[in-house]
Amino acid sequence: MKLSLVVPCYNEEGNIAPFYKAVADTFDGHDFEYEIVFVNDGSTDNTLQVLKKLITGPVAIKIISFSRNFGKEAAMLAGLENADGEYVTVIDADLQQHPSVVLDMIEKLDVNPEIDCVAAYQDKRDEDAKISFFKDTFYKVVNLITDTEFFSGASDFRTFRRPMVDSIVGMKEYFRFSKGIFSWVGYNTEYIPYTVSERASGESKWSFVKLLKYAVDGIESFTVRPLRIPLWLGILFIIISLPLFIVALATGKNISVSVIYFVGGTILACMGVLGEYLAKTYMQGKNRPVYIIKENISNR
Ligand code: UDP
Ligand code: MG
Repeated sequence: MKLSLVVPCYNEEGNIAPFYKAVADTFDGHDFEYEIVFVNDGSTDNTLQVLKKLITGPVAIKIISFSRNFGKEAAMLAGLENADGEYVTVIDADLQQHPSVVLDMIEKLDVNPEIDCVAAYQDKRDEDAKISFFKDTFYKVVNLITDTEFFSGASDFRTFRRPMVDSIVGMKEYFRFSKGIFSWVGYNTEYIPYTVSERASGESKWSFVKLLKYAVDGIESFTVRPLRIPLWLGILFIIISLPLFIVALATGKNISVSVIYFVGGTILACMGVLGEYLAKTYMQGKNRPVYIIKENISNR
């Protein structure tokens, strides 16, 4: 069996060497072959230089370096597309997800041929209360309004079998929301708990605003139901406006300005929703690449 580790890296200069060592220490003495596919997502620090030093080491390494920062989703796609293992793991570079958990994932896949993916979820979330609340609400909303199932707390830290990887990279959408894609492609996923460690060095690239944007993208990518809101609201307002109109006609008095504001606001909001989807269709229509590779290096 060959395992590929896909590692998105954005400004991780302090973590690459410890990560490499942790992987080598953990996998040493196990009877499987492995490669590490690092994706340098347009880092502005010395990540690429630190990665290039690993080329002379004993482990099979691929380095895919983007021409700028395209985001973790693009980095994961590039990694999955360039990984050739029978099993493929997506894992962060900051050691918050320890490689030892990968051994548990592999074991699960080895013993049960029915399972196509083992996904880790955080058992204890040691994070900001605001972020935690936001994430929980997001999962509730997204499960309610989309037909795709999202497992609360599940991360991108997963090990897939080859056929599932092929299906995931076969999804050519520009606005990628992996948690949705992983679920949408189907297959059998087993969830295992893991404890998130502290970031080895550097800081998280996610701010509240970035998370919010990602959540909205995720919902829009997996349901078109918000597009139907204007229709139902419109019908509702027509029904309400009928008696109002009759009263206005009978009494000769104008409908109050506040009603106009309210209706106007609703129309604008609905047009906003339409605009969101139109913008996405427009971007997808351009058929832009999800990422651009500037350098592609390998020691095998
Ligand atoms: N990452 C990336 N591109 C980005 C942001 C993050 O490749 O634009 C990588 C990052 O280097 C790390 C992983 O994605 O390996 C997870 O990022 P981070 O640790 O910032 O997220 P958190 O663990 O706080 O959710
Ligand atoms: Mg992290």
